[in-house]
Amino acid sequence: MNKSYLESNPDENGYFGRFGGAYIPPQLEKPIQEISEAYDELSKSFDFLDELKKIRKHYQGRPTPIYYARNLSKYCGGGQIYLKREDLNHTGAHKLNHCMAEALVAKHLGKTKLMAETGAGQHGVALATAAAYFGLECEIYMGEVDIEKEHPNVVRMKILGAKVVPVTHGLKTLKEAVDSCFEAYVPQADTALYAIGSVVGPHPFPKMVRDFQSVVGKEAKEQFLDMTGKLPDNCVACIGGGSNAIGLFSGFINDPVKLHGVEPLGVGTKLGQHSATLTYGEEGVMHGFNSIMLKDENGEPAPVYSVASGIDYPSVGPEHAHLREIGRTIVGTIDDDEAIDAFYKLSQYEGIIPALESAHAVAYAMKLARENPKESILINLSGRGDKDIDFVVEKYPIPKKV
Ligand SMILES: *Cc1c(COP(=O)(O)O)cnc(C)c1O
Repeated sequence: MNKSYLESNPDENGYFGRFGGAYIPPQLEKPIQEISEAYDELSKSFDFLDELKKIRKHYQGRPTPIYYARNLSKYCGGGQIYLKREDLNHTGAHKLNHCMAEALVAKHLGKTKLMAETGAGQHGVALATAAAYFGLECEIYMGEVDIEKEHPNVVRMKILGAKVVPVTHGLKTLKEAVDSCFEAYVPQADTALYAIGSVVGPHPFPKMVRDFQSVVGKEAKEQFLDMTGKLPDNCVACIGGGSNAIGLFSGFINDPVKLHGVEPLGVGTKLGQHSATLTYGEEGVMHGFNSIMLKDENGEPAPVYSVASGIDYPSVGPEHAHLREIGRTIVGTIDDDEAIDAFYKLSQYEGIIPALESAHAVAYAMKLARENPKESILINLSGRGDKDIDFVVEKYPIPKKV
């Protein structure tokens, strides 16, 4: 049954319900079609899957463990909180799961270069890592604001051999980085692969990236059953584009498990103060796909904000728009202050410093645990917080443990 949902979504044109598709300029039709066909073939190829499996085990360090956060659960005074430790993936986040696989697709297509945008720098670092591994060139587009905020990741990308291209227009963050990368990709689509950083973009990327991230849910289900003899009552993950969330959710999609996606509420509910796309957005096309997006008064992508650079994106993966619409997922929000509180709580109670993105999921799970003392909650701890520490301690002084 599990299989049937994943196999029948998206449809052959890349639609999840009415969301998804491929809205691309004519010059991109051929290269995108080529990627789509190659992926269809590779996804059934024993050699491809076997190589990916070996990379995951020997290079990435999979499977990542599940950990029962006893202290944090006790602090919340209720439900049992478990963490799927994607922060322990090589490079410190779930993104390597799809980057290694996208690079492997590029290699099979005979491409010589990987290109991508990055927000917090995590996707850039993961892709630069994959490029180094496979001996490919790598070019990363990054907003100037993020370059400043995420300095350590910029240095990491350069050390790994990638070229970092600063994006200086608009808000100088993730959305502009996607625009610039798309533009640069069009004339070199023959030799380069645009390795999209989440379950967004034109078909086949939302499907491809989901499939590559589904290893998280597959492992998690097996591990959780092994540990507890039961399924979790709840799964929780933060949603930027939605790749870590769908990775976890896909493992439980046809099980009686509540699936919660958490969006960043930033500093308020007004346009420009948050990045809670599913919560406040409306239907529209951006970056090659139809989904829910945050629009300004002119119908253009609205400015977005979150303390976590990796989740401030004005649209969302089409599958998440669909799953919410059919009532399969629950979407909630967490603001900056709640995320910072969870960042420090997980650090102080468990000795695990989470990425600010993941801290949104932790904060939401802490609330769930308080409200549902008998339930278990499995969080996708999508990344580690090393990249965020300088920024956090400067803006939000270290609190006393209470
Ligand atoms: C990029 C990133 C995210 C957001 O991306 P999704 O595609 O929504 O998962 C979340 N957590 C971390 C640690 C990230 O680096």
